[in-house]
Amino acid sequence: MPVNDLKDITIIGGGPTGVFALFYAGMRRATAQVVDALPELGGQLTALYPEKYIFDVAGFPKILAKDLVKSLAEQAKQFQQPIHLAQRVVGLEEEHGHFVLVTETDRFPSKAIVIAAGIGAFSPRRLPQVCAEPWYGRGIFDVVTDPEDFRGRRVVIIGGGDSAFDWGTQLLDRAERVTIVHRSDRFRAHGATIAQFQAAVSAGRADLFTFHELFDIKCIDGADHFSRVELREVKTKTTREIGADVVLPMLGFVSDLGPLAEWGLTLEKDEIVVNSMMETGRAGIYAAGDIVTYPGKLKLIATGFGDAATAVNQAVHWIYPERKVAPGHSSNMEIFGQKDD
Ligand SMILES: Cc1cc2nc3c(=O)[nH]c(=O)nc-3n(C[C@H](O)[C@H](O)[C@H](O)COP(=O)(O)OP(=O)(O)OC[C@H]3O[C@@H](n4cnc5c(N)ncnc54)[C@H](O)[C@@H]3O)c2cc1C
Repeated sequence: MPVNDLKDITIIGGGPTGVFALFYAGMRRATAQVVDALPELGGQLTALYPEKYIFDVAGFPKILAKDLVKSLAEQAKQFQQPIHLAQRVVGLEEEHGHFVLVTETDRFPSKAIVIAAGIGAFSPRRLPQVCAEPWYGRGIFDVVTDPEDFRGRRVVIIGGGDSAFDWGTQLLDRAERVTIVHRSDRFRAHGATIAQFQAAVSAGRADLFTFHELFDIKCIDGADHFSRVELREVKTKTTREIGADVVLPMLGFVSDLGPLAEWGLTLEKDEIVVNSMMETGRAGIYAAGDIVTYPGKLKLIATGFGDAATAVNQAVHWIYPERKVAPGHSSNMEIFGQKDD
């Protein structure tokens, strides 16, 4: 198993809190890295609502969630600290006087840890139909990495949320046909995107089946791909078959605190109890963002940023007692090419 370089601070979670913590560690001249289970940075913003506007982040009258993630990543990347994606933290060990975070594939030695794991590691909710299971990775994909993979294919999207309609509209010009299938006629997606997809349906370029669910997947015996799926009307139980090469389940995510719950930290309802210094009670381990609880804690991006700054400043002082907790003002910092007034 590859062992990475020893860092001052390893941040679990690349949501807004974790990415800001990465920037902050760089500003404090601490070596740091982020490890996240998802294939992209951004946590809930990327996984759950990339196309929604956020109105309560300081300095932005409104900003799309995905654009906030882009700006946070750009701010953090100026210190060129590593970001390890698609790696779920599964264990914590101690070795030679420091921590070692263990993922499914790597080991990350670290002097201190900041847990910014939000609501836990996400994984896409799987289709409940047993018939779907053997086709995962062979026609059923719950993460879209490159929409070009679906050029010229008949794509069936299951779900009625933002992801279903975002991908539905984005694939209209690439796929041979796009069909959205949803169990009700109530959608949890941005109105403009729904309207865009419905316009494509009216123009005969796409299909939308409400009150329908996936019922079966049809293939010719022995074939390594399917060519049709059977849909069922949820009320009348009548079925219909449509041509399909690809099924994209967009059913949201399930989250799981996983091994973090076993690290001897004090938990209250799946949240880590911290004090006003973001200390968890285990020396060298700090926590920040949605994962923490303290009197008055609000689960917001704005408060996550504050938690991250506190956690990193405390961690830096804990590792290097000669460095003050208070960072000084960035507007005077040499690291940004500024001079003290
Ligand atoms: C639909 C919706 C709309 C919202 N709108 C707003 C809004 O307008 N304003 C606002 O302030 N807030 C809003 N929020 C809340 C906001 O998104 C959260 O407060 C914020 O995402 C918390 O950031 P975080 O970095 O602490 O956690 P998260 O964003 O949850 O990120 C945590 C990261 O940790 C990773 N992780 C967890 N466990 C592990 C592990 N074991 N190994 C590796 N990685 C792991 C996860 O994969 C994830 O990427 C909204 C939330 C939702 C769902």
